[in-house]
Amino acid sequence: VEYIDPGSKTVGGKTAEGGAFQISYDRLLIATGATPIIPDLPGFDLPGVMGLKSLEDGRRIKQFIEEKNVKRIVIIGMGYIALEMCEALRGRGIKVDMVKPRRAFLPWLQEDLGHMVRDEVEARGVGVNSGHGIKEIREGEGGLKVVCEDLTLDCEMVLSAAGIKPVSDIAEEAGLQLGPDRAIAVDRTLRTSEENIYAAGDCADAFHIVTGERVWIPLALRANRAGWAVADNITGKHVELDGVAGTAVFKVFDLQVAATGLNIHQAEEAGFDPVAAMIKSRTRAHAHPGSTKIGVSMVGDKKTERLLGVQMVGGEGAAHRVNAPAVALQARMTVGAFAESDMAYAPPFGPVWDPMLTAANQLLKKMR
Ligand SMILES: Cc1cc2nc3c(=O)[nH]c(=O)nc-3n(C[C@H](O)[C@H](O)[C@H](O)COP(=O)(O)OP(=O)(O)OC[C@H]3O[C@@H](n4cnc5c(N)ncnc54)[C@H](O)[C@@H]3O)c2cc1C
Repeated sequence: VEYIDPGSKTVGGKTAEGGAFQISYDRLLIATGATPIIPDLPGFDLPGVMGLKSLEDGRRIKQFIEEKNVKRIVIIGMGYIALEMCEALRGRGIKVDMVKPRRAFLPWLQEDLGHMVRDEVEARGVGVNSGHGIKEIREGEGGLKVVCEDLTLDCEMVLSAAGIKPVSDIAEEAGLQLGPDRAIAVDRTLRTSEENIYAAGDCADAFHIVTGERVWIPLALRANRAGWAVADNITGKHVELDGVAGTAVFKVFDLQVAATGLNIHQAEEAGFDPVAAMIKSRTRAHAHPGSTKIGVSMVGDKKTERLLGVQMVGGEGAAHRVNAPAVALQARMTVGAFAESDMAYAPPFGPVWDPMLTAANQLLKKMR
């Protein structure tokens, strides 16, 4: 699709064969997703510089690695896709160097938790080069060179994972309002600024359940849920979505990283009076075999005692633990009410006091 004309209620563009098409609509759903940001620097169009968005991209990467017998890869970016790819590539015995301009490793993560992840990645032989602005990618002898101001990394393939942006150009050209990060602005029914046009998924914004403000947090559950809500709204039901907490989880080597809600900096920016508590606990009862470390950072508002966010890094169980605070955020619970939750205990699943409860109790002490 190349254009939307809200006046005549038509969309048009080109078919795969190159012929022009035009379709009229009564209601339109825009679900164009997001696309990788390709830095506007020399060399990002060279063969061997890849992005990862679709299954097809994944297949191309695999084929390139096999055909060229790739032994060294540089990953540009250190977000969750970069880290997941780093684990997959190390699993194939490939040497991996990561590089990015900002110094902080995972800037959105509480510092101690960020160090836990960085230590794990480095212990697996990955080069973590943060704080290096990339100048260009150059063809060199037998491969590619990622050139920074004060560092050059040799490799045979570059994976560019420097973030994503919403695909919102055709919506903007059609006069639709955009929200944060240029995502298409939608109300709680997923309707855009045009009455007959809806937008759902990574191309659209959402309301944050903690701040109430518009945010762009492109993740799969919200995309799916928003699609269903649009279907309901178009077919005569009335559905309003509450919003997102930004609940997310990923795995890197033997660690799971999970977060929901706001970190302390975001809470400050949103006008709260935030306090954070950081605790270290175990993922199973101490004596139980297989118990691993888990770190939890919990943030609450001193004024209202409202729970604002939780982050954790641990050897197991982070993905499912984070769902409890995610529900608490949705229910606008206070830290005190969350600390009273009757959570399950048995030795293979956690200590008697689940790390969520320990963090909430420590946070209460700091808030009162
Ligand atoms: C490598 C990777 C790992 C991920 N892992 C996770 C995860 O673990 N958890 C999680 O929650 N999320 C994850 N995500 C994000 C998740 O995939 C997205 O949130 C989700 O796919 C968004 O769905 P969507 O339908 O909005 O967009 P998409 O799935 O991107 O679909 C958009 C579609 O619109 C098409 N399109 C775009 N422009 C046009 C146009 N002009 N005309 C016609 N068609 C167009 C595109 O070709 C595409 O088919 C991951 C993403 C990637 C890339």
